[in-house]
Amino acid sequence: MNPPIGPAWAVEALRQAARVTWTIQARQAQAVDKADRSPVTAADFAAQAVVTAWLRQHEPAARLVAEEDAATFRAAPPAVQAAVLEAVRLVLPQADTDALPTWLAQGRAEPRGRFWVLDPVDGTKGFLRGAQYAVALALVDGGRVQWGGLACPNLAWPAAEAPAAGAALPGWLAVAARGRGAWAAPLAGGPWQRLWVSAVRDPRAARILRSYEAAHTHGGLIAALARRLGTRQPPVRLDSQAKYALLAAGQGDIYLRVPPASRPDYKEKIWDQAAGALLVEEAGGRVTDLDGRALDFGQGRTLARNRGVVATNAALHPAVLQALRDLAA
Ligand code: AMP
Ligand code: MG
Repeated sequence: MNPPIGPAWAVEALRQAARVTWTIQARQAQAVDKADRSPVTAADFAAQAVVTAWLRQHEPAARLVAEEDAATFRAAPPAVQAAVLEAVRLVLPQADTDALPTWLAQGRAEPRGRFWVLDPVDGTKGFLRGAQYAVALALVDGGRVQWGGLACPNLAWPAAEAPAAGAALPGWLAVAARGRGAWAAPLAGGPWQRLWVSAVRDPRAARILRSYEAAHTHGGLIAALARRLGTRQPPVRLDSQAKYALLAAGQGDIYLRVPPASRPDYKEKIWDQAAGALLVEEAGGRVTDLDGRALDFGQGRTLARNRGVVATNAALHPAVLQALRDLAA
């Protein structure tokens, strides 16, 4: 079924990238260390190749800013390179060895004006644990996200209709376009439904979402904030922008990203936040940084003018920002 908000090629690219990554995850992917010591797998390269191929077919001249690069792929062990080709051929049977580095070299555009931004596997550490991850694609124009899509193969939300039994690919695909709402459908296909954030107004009833990885956030500050708000449930830990998807679907109320104590100056990468942030806003939520500033996607590859992220169902936003100010005082 066609999505209610295009572009249709981007939705299809996300579905195919989800299928490819999900297949690799089931086979227990091997991790390779990147130059910054963060892990990358065959799934990251395969998903980036698939989305790039779709982009080039439909928008040949568009700028793409993507997380992975051809040099890291060329340096990866032959077994990983072979796994990438095999996975990509599941959805693009014509792909050959030469095509992969060519596609992977195309994600280094300057992030200015109108550009696409891609995180082929957001939450690689979760992916390696067999847990949550997302394929995240967004369109930025003039420093603002105009379209965003998240494919979350391991995500299930209880309030929504379950994916068809025996479906080849579980999970959900969520997309948003500025001014046109947030929508989700099972990755395996099926009807699209509008997403709305929760109506929770009492901070004590709020469900807080945070990173699974201790090194990606400030667990101590989030725990202190939960105490200050009086939340009855402990924060829920999960990887990737799946947190934004849950918030947009009303399955969580507050999402906090706080730079870890070990890296207080950490700047968020645009591909880690763009798609999810628009999804929450279009589902009726609010997204700012920890100081209440709008996220500025026009500052290069990072959110250089922001500090962390606060995303909420909007109703709880003032209480969260106030609690953060109180804790900093
Ligand atoms: P999450 O699964 O929400 O923890 O987010 C995963 C993303 O966190 C990865 O894609 C990384 O780009 C990003 N990341 C890596 N190191 C840090 C850090 N020190 N603080 C915040 N985010 C980080
Ligand atoms: Mg990421």
